[in-house]
Formats: sequence, C-alpha cells, structure tokens
Amino acid sequence: MEGWTVTVDRRITKKEKPNTEQLEFGRIFTDHMFIMDYMEPLGWHDARIVPYQQLTIDPSAMTFHYGQSVFEGMKAYHTDEGEIQLFRPEKNLERLNHSNDRLCIPQIDEEFVLNAIKQLVYLDKDWIPKADGTSLYIRPFIISTEPFIGVAPSHQYKLIVILSPVGSYYKEGINPVKIAVENHYVRAVKGGTGEAKTGGNYAASLKAQEKCTQNGFSQVLWLDGVEKKYIEEVGSMNVFFKINGEVVTPALNGSILEGITRNSVIQLLNHWNIPVTERKVSMEELYEAYVDGKLEEAFGSGTAAVLSPIGQLSWGDKDLFINNGKTGEVSKALYDTLTGIQYGRKTDPFNWVEKVKEVSAIKN
Ligand SMILES: *Cc1c(COP(=O)(O)O)cnc(C)c1O
Repeated sequence: MEGWTVTVDRRITKKEKPNTEQLEFGRIFTDHMFIMDYMEPLGWHDARIVPYQQLTIDPSAMTFHYGQSVFEGMKAYHTDEGEIQLFRPEKNLERLNHSNDRLCIPQIDEEFVLNAIKQLVYLDKDWIPKADGTSLYIRPFIISTEPFIGVAPSHQYKLIVILSPVGSYYKEGINPVKIAVENHYVRAVKGGTGEAKTGGNYAASLKAQEKCTQNGFSQVLWLDGVEKKYIEEVGSMNVFFKINGEVVTPALNGSILEGITRNSVIQLLNHWNIPVTERKVSMEELYEAYVDGKLEEAFGSGTAAVLSPIGQLSWGDKDLFINNGKTGEVSKALYDTLTGIQYGRKTDPFNWVEKVKEVSAIKN
C-alpha cells in the first residue's frame, strides 16, 4: 500500500461560532471532520478531513442493526499561553483498538489516527473555547457500513472524528451529587462488552438512568451483574471511595471500563503517598464503613466531569450521607491537580500532556 496522508478539503464559508456562556455538552460541531474508510483488501484507506456534513449510508448498513460500533471521548484544552493541549491521547487510541478487538473491528494505526486528530484539532483551533473549564470535546467513532443484515462482523467500516466545543461541567463550582444504587438493572457482565467503549453498553444503561432521574437522583451506582453485590461504576464513570484513610476503587474485572481518568487518579494518589487499592468493594462493606464513620469520601472519575463527588448514596431504604454532602479534601486535590495539568496551569510530572502544533499525518 502507498504511504498514507490526510487530504484536506476546507470549508469555504465558516459556520457561526457559539456564545461560550451558552455552551452545552455535545450539541454543536465544528467546521470539519475526519473520515477514513475500511474495505477489504485495501484495509483502512482514503483518510481525509472534509467539511462537517451528513453521511450517506445504506439503510442495511450493519451498524444500524446489530450495533457493531465503538467510540472514544477525549478533549483539547486551551492554555492561558494560547497553546492547545491533549491529555494522554495515546491512551484513547490504544483503548479504541482494545474495543475494536472485542467488537471484531479491524485494528487502526494508533499513531496515524492520533496525528490525524491533531491535524483536525489544529485546523478547527478557533473553535476551542477559552473560558474557564471549557474545552473542545473530541469524539472518534467507528461504524460498520457493509450493506448486509446477516449477523457477522462487517467487511466495511468508517472511522470518523467529530469535534464539539463544550461548556464548563461545573458552572456553579464542583458540587456533590445524589446517587441511587441500582439493584435491578445491570450495565454489563464479565465476559460481555463492559470493558469495551461501545454504544450497546450505553443503550443498556438508559432505562436505569431514566428511572433514577425520575426519582430525583443524578446517576446510578452499578453493581456486578452476577451477585449484584460488588460495586462497578457510577453512571458512565469509574468510582472511588476513601475508607479510613485508604482510597479504594473496584478492580478491573472484565465488566468495568478502564478509564484514563481512573488510571491518572491512581497514579496521582501513589505520587502523593496516599494509599490506594484496586480490589472488590461490596455495597455491604461500604455500608458498614459508613455506619462506623469511616466512609470519608466518594467520587466518580471520567473525561467529561474529570471528577464528580458523591454527596449521597441511596441503597434500598438506606441513605448514606458522605462528608456532609461536601466535596472531600482528596477529591478536591485530585480535581485541582488534574484540571491544572490539563489546562497547563500546573506542572506535569508524568508527561501526560501533548501539545497540538501544526502537523500533517503521514504514514509511509
Ligand atoms: C468512558 C467511560 C469511563 C471513563 O473513562 P475516561 O477515559 O476516564 O474518560 C468510565 N466508564 C465508562 C462506562 C465509560 O464509557
């Protein structure tokens, strides 16, 4: 195969940019997008940046019927010095390939796609909002496009990257949320697709989310799908608890999604010499710790919110009020440090940040 380059077809009339104050999550998209196709025997080919536009896809395309698709979520940040930064983006591309493997989607060239993403972000850099806490959300995803409604892995795919300017997650400061422990529905099971970032997991989560919203909670706490005893995740975030001075998070078990924020939190805690353990945590253990006055902090972690403190946890008829509904000290320090590194205001001891400069993605 010939060397790959990304061809660029620039939009002539630029779209109007949104008012930063009114930004929501994921409703507005930038001027351009990246697309690359897969077809046998060519493999991935025709990498191109084109004006953001609708797709023409056959109604029989496999992605519509059996959900063979994967996605990623990452952000580009504007620093006070006017630079553009990504946070551990190589981890997102690595995870995309793990998800691909689970969904029988062909592997991508991680370095090439990351360079293509940088090239796209640079081209649309005027769309990165500058106000505090705002960023440009990057959504790479792969869909199966073969026109065939038989159940089998597709032979054709599209990898697409779209960009969306997003507002600050915490407009009124970081506030703890109310969480309901979900005792009926499950998000994923070991051996299923829980550890892959695939739309089906989200489809499976909607019913529980709808129920908890109706009951006045903001997210659900997911338990394991077999015994409904052990804690897995909170909403679409990984979850941490500080119990008697030790931070614990559920060990990766095949149904938990391995968050990049989760990994960063663990590394930071180690760096600070705060004990952190990955192990099984049951709801029963958590409740006992609460009754003994040892449940000190609880929070979720993920790219969108970075860190979301849990102020209240409802488990059947029991209510656990954590840290008087206030953000804990460790939660606050983690939030400040992670966002500080992402926005270039704090030193980056782990080399997590990657600058986006003018690049062209080329593979020979
Ligand atoms: C994406 C995701 C996370 C968080 O991952 P980050 O890399 O930290 O953004 C956690 N749980 C689920 C189910 C996810 O889809």
